[in-house]
Amino acid sequence: MGIRKVSWNGKRVTVAGLGVSGIPAARALHRLGAVVTVVNDGDDERSRAQAEELRSWAAAHSAPDKDGGGRREGGITVRLGDGDTLPEGTELVVTAPGWRPDKPLFAAAAEAGVEIWGDVELAWRLRGHGESLRAAQSGKGGGGRPEGAAPWLAVTGTNGKTTTVRMLASILQAAGLRTAAVGNIGVSLLDAVLGEETYDVLAVELSSYQLHWAPSLRAHSAAVLNLAPDHLDWHGTMEAYAADKGRIYEGNTVACVYSVADKVTEDLVREADVEEGCRAIGFTLGTPGPSQLGVVEGILVDRAFVENRQKQAQELAEVADVQPPAPHNIANALAAAALARAFGVEPRAVRDGLRAFRPDPHRIELVEEIQGVVYVDDSKATNTHAAEASLAAYDPIVWIAGGLAKGAAFDEIVATSAKRLRGVVLIGADRALIREALARHAPEVPVVDLDRTDTGAMSAAVEEASRLARPGDTVLLAPACASMDMFADYNKRGEAFADAVRALAAAGRD
Ligand code: ADP
Repeated sequence: MGIRKVSWNGKRVTVAGLGVSGIPAARALHRLGAVVTVVNDGDDERSRAQAEELRSWAAAHSAPDKDGGGRREGGITVRLGDGDTLPEGTELVVTAPGWRPDKPLFAAAAEAGVEIWGDVELAWRLRGHGESLRAAQSGKGGGGRPEGAAPWLAVTGTNGKTTTVRMLASILQAAGLRTAAVGNIGVSLLDAVLGEETYDVLAVELSSYQLHWAPSLRAHSAAVLNLAPDHLDWHGTMEAYAADKGRIYEGNTVACVYSVADKVTEDLVREADVEEGCRAIGFTLGTPGPSQLGVVEGILVDRAFVENRQKQAQELAEVADVQPPAPHNIANALAAAALARAFGVEPRAVRDGLRAFRPDPHRIELVEEIQGVVYVDDSKATNTHAAEASLAAYDPIVWIAGGLAKGAAFDEIVATSAKRLRGVVLIGADRALIREALARHAPEVPVVDLDRTDTGAMSAAVEEASRLARPGDTVLLAPACASMDMFADYNKRGEAFADAVRALAAAGRD
């Protein structure tokens, strides 16, 4: 794998949390020669099996190290059922991003003067193989970019991250660059920086949690797509949430991309400490000003990365090149285009990349058209900000909503969408909250309250929606809620919707 063991040999690292980020982190650290202890809150069957697998993997990978001429001293210890005690002698904590900053483990680490890195910080410090390890050894890993390591184009925001990062990767590929969409999707960050594959540039999705734990990350360019209240139970306040998102701009070298429509994102750029010459680049669904990307008469245009931005605008693509061409998705495309242009990608590759892009399932996905009614699955709209964006894309709409509200209020989404609603079908545990908001802001809109939380409720919801809909309408599943009261996850919820729609179409053909 080519990882050089330098200061990591014998270093005592505590990995907080078994799981999607903890296990790869523990393995990578072990390969580097660190003495790894994984601490985990849970002690259930699944974590016991994971722990056992990790231990035996470590035992099988503790052979003498031929490359470095030494011997790996490290092993992997797993402590289940105690995620709050800092193991004796810990020199570094690497945490799963979801662990809350107020956990006692972190207070203990702070007291002992031990650094805490998230999975992204670890990947950032380890990038560039040997070079990055030397940087990590000197304790100045965040400074210069290790020779040969792929720069990062980073994306965060409350909604649209995955879509934008995938669009960006598609554009970079169209430009002939070796790249990958990494983060919560596709390739894991650690694999991307430590694996055999070499990249010219990485398109990186980052959550607010990951940014919180990534103090030395320095992206080439970065975008904050939008900011709406989310995960406030974790961050404490909206200010803290915004501040963590804003970290993505720290040390950017070429461009900080913000949303003109979302002033907070622009404020975050202003507050960031960036490299000399780094530019603030806005994206807007309207006509772009200088140093912005926007839309003019159905064309995506660039007034930022052109020779004379006062007078010139460069055509990039048509709105119709973006799939699906809903307004918020055009915004995502503009943000992706801005990052690609910041990296020097030609306009034609922006167009080709956007044309080649296909959205992931359950994100405003067209399922069927039945008797002039279009059925759209946006099961991924798990919060009100996302659902509001997809409601804005259609008119008139029969809206299927409900699930777990996670403390959200529905007044704003109902008030802004009321005039486009043909009717509403409510499902799920917290549907009363939406029903009450509808009574307050859209009393004339017919509402079917299904009073059901069983999995089969989706078929009934689709049938009710089809009764309310008229030709030309869109039946939109945009629940504005999490799915776990009725389904394993939003994928299963979307599949249930699509199955019910297909059954309806089949019944119509019989
Ligand atoms: P994330 O990775 O941030 O969760 P996704 O790209 O998976 O974002 O999209 C999640 C949902 O958010 C989509 O189904 C859509 O409803 C909504 N969405 C996508 N882009 C935006 C945007 N720019 N603004 C608001 N909502 C959006």
